Amino acid sequence: MPAISGKMEFDTAWSYAPAPENADHIVLKKRYELFITGKFVKPQSGKYFETLNPATGKPLAKVAEGSEADIDKAVKAARKAYTNHWSKLPAKERGKYIFRLARMIQERAREFAVIESLDGGKAIRESKGVDIPLAAAHFFYYAGWADKLNYAFPNTNPSSLGVAGQIIPWNFPLLMAAWKLAPALATGNTVVLKPAETTPLTAMKLAELIQDCDFPPGVVNIVTGAGATGAALVNHPDVDKIAFTGSTEVGKLIRRATAGTQKKITLELGGKAANIIFEDAPLDQAVEGIINGIYFNQGHVCCAGSRLLVQESVKEVIIRKLKDRMETLIVGDPLDKNTDIGAINSQQQLATIEAYLKLGQAEGAEMFQSSCPVPQNGGYWVRPTLFLNASQSHRIVQEEIFGPVLAVQSFRTVDEAVKKANNTHYGLSAGVWTDKGSKIFQMTQKMRAGVIWANTYNKFDPTAPFGGYKESGFGREGGLHGLMPYLKM
Ligand code: ADP
Repeated sequence: MPAISGKMEFDTAWSYAPAPENADHIVLKKRYELFITGKFVKPQSGKYFETLNPATGKPLAKVAEGSEADIDKAVKAARKAYTNHWSKLPAKERGKYIFRLARMIQERAREFAVIESLDGGKAIRESKGVDIPLAAAHFFYYAGWADKLNYAFPNTNPSSLGVAGQIIPWNFPLLMAAWKLAPALATGNTVVLKPAETTPLTAMKLAELIQDCDFPPGVVNIVTGAGATGAALVNHPDVDKIAFTGSTEVGKLIRRATAGTQKKITLELGGKAANIIFEDAPLDQAVEGIINGIYFNQGHVCCAGSRLLVQESVKEVIIRKLKDRMETLIVGDPLDKNTDIGAINSQQQLATIEAYLKLGQAEGAEMFQSSCPVPQNGGYWVRPTLFLNASQSHRIVQEEIFGPVLAVQSFRTVDEAVKKANNTHYGLSAGVWTDKGSKIFQMTQKMRAGVIWANTYNKFDPTAPFGGYKESGFGREGGLHGLMPYLKM
């Protein structure tokens, strides 16, 4: 083998040939309608909006814009289905429908993964390996609870609430739909779901599966649209429960809108997680954890490890290893199996991230970006980025950027690490990397974060509850805890 001398030779010797996922089997409709009472119906306003492929900036399909009147129709359908069918059905029969849906998602996983990557921009490796299998796993898990609620919560005689309004974001479109629908249906509620406006396609595909599963009409209704459609759902007087995942800003609006009403709410909002690396950590694994925590999924993850806190004594070595690893990341076509970082979800989100990149430099932090090529094709791209010498008061340390941007700080002692980690408005997640189990316990007791990963990052399981402290929201999704917000006990 010839000696590898310069960067050019290295690139040629080691660059990967394209390995595109086959998308020939994907059939997208030109236009998607609303899914109400088990049927696809036109929006009453006759209005549609385009959903784009963020990797090209080109439209994929038109999607119905649901109005207040459509939301009203969907809530009425859900109420009727609740009263006449779903609440009367023996729990084990409810479970069978949900099991059936889980199996069908599994069977169609490849199709769902490709559509998720086309519509949302995430790398196919993520949608195929994480999003879709986890969505199916959530339906399987909660289907199993449907007829065991009395065992889950003994002596409480748990019963359903009625109609749940559920509003989801664009970062994990199908998975968030599964997090919301599965526990709501298993506990005997009916649903009106409002997907995010930039990523409605897998929800509409799910509607087709719900039809194929023969769910009683109206048990699940899906109304697409933007913020106004979501607000109409929040304000509808016949909704018993609102479950929301999205920005802290909209979460606050929803909290205000539902104050003084009978509606139960759960909010899963933003985050600014610290990934904390101690000097006794397995450093190479920690670097991999940092990369996984912030760069995969374009940093479009509310629990992303967007702050790195590294102990002074290993700071230099960690930064060197991190930069080397960042240089190997591939940014590009989401459908290519080699891609690590796909497209930013929307032009608006790209503008937000770019504004933070300027802001970080203006605040005095030192920016480093990998030198990888990015497609020049009208799509939305950001190179993996880190900010060195960031300080606690910087906005890039305090605010959620929702992009592949990492702010680096250092610490000397456990107490300093805890103080810095806790010093934000958020409290969704964190990571701790150390060889010492006792240090992990010491940290987890002092940190205000709903999920703390130890020597790993961004690992999910339907049996584990997820949710935040402070401005990251309240209520838990996943596990037994995830059933509670949908039950009267
Ligand atoms: P992001 O900043 O991640 O896009 P948003 O909070 O804006 O998060 O959006 C999350 C979801 O909330 C989307 O489905 C969006 O359409 C919906 N939404 C936006 N504004 C409102 C609102 N005022 N009331 C209810 N839902 C809203």
